Amino acid sequence: CSTHRGLVISDTWPGYNLDVFSLPNHYCEDLECVYIPHGVIVDRIERLASDIMKDIGDNHITVLCVLKGGYKFCADLVEHIKNLSRNSERFISMRVDFIRLRSYCNDKSTEDLQIIGEEELSKLTGKNVLIVEDVIGTGRTMKALLSHMENYNPKMVKVASLLVKRSAGNNTYSPDYTGFEIPNIFVVGYALDYNEHFRDLHHICVISDKGKEKYKV
Ligand code: 5GP
Repeated sequence: CSTHRGLVISDTWPGYNLDVFSLPNHYCEDLECVYIPHGVIVDRIERLASDIMKDIGDNHITVLCVLKGGYKFCADLVEHIKNLSRNSERFISMRVDFIRLRSYCNDKSTEDLQIIGEEELSKLTGKNVLIVEDVIGTGRTMKALLSHMENYNPKMVKVASLLVKRSAGNNTYSPDYTGFEIPNIFVVGYALDYNEHFRDLHHICVISDKGKEKYKV
């Protein structure tokens, strides 16, 4: 159904002109446009939090934040869930764990997935787990993580991804909760990086060719 795809951003969306938002000076030449402004991101996450509460409220859940790109999404999502939980009859008790995955070099996905902090996964046996990820591109990373997690026998696993890319490959995977469905373009900001740069950017933006060249490794 359409809500399952999240807020769908079409292939023709040009983004907003950089001049109409506040951006750090040091990135001005490195960006093409503001693709999703910070306020819209946070508003969408508020709704995801309420969807999650509806589905799995009254349970104890372990939020598994996938670092580094997922830290902003995770922090805002947990904050909204906490607020909802405080103001309603339903109460969700949460703990938050962290793992780090690495599969990208420049703007290209690589075959090998490294899991840093794997010992965290052994704590998930018998638990209701909500994986919080920044982007599903080809879906390879999430599929690899999920199949790896099976070894630890969690009771339930749900996945929330801030962004899902359309047609990023045949290997697509659909998470349980999606913030935005976007075309197959590379985006940065709101904790998403390009070789560790741009995490300090407030909005989700499209990087320019100049920016790609400048921060290439
Ligand atoms: P996949 O295996 O689904 O192709 O890639 C998933 C991982 O690649 C995500 O966890 C994310 O870290 C990274 N990734 C995919 N697309 C983007 C993007 O547009 N920007 C950034 N910064 N990272 C991305």
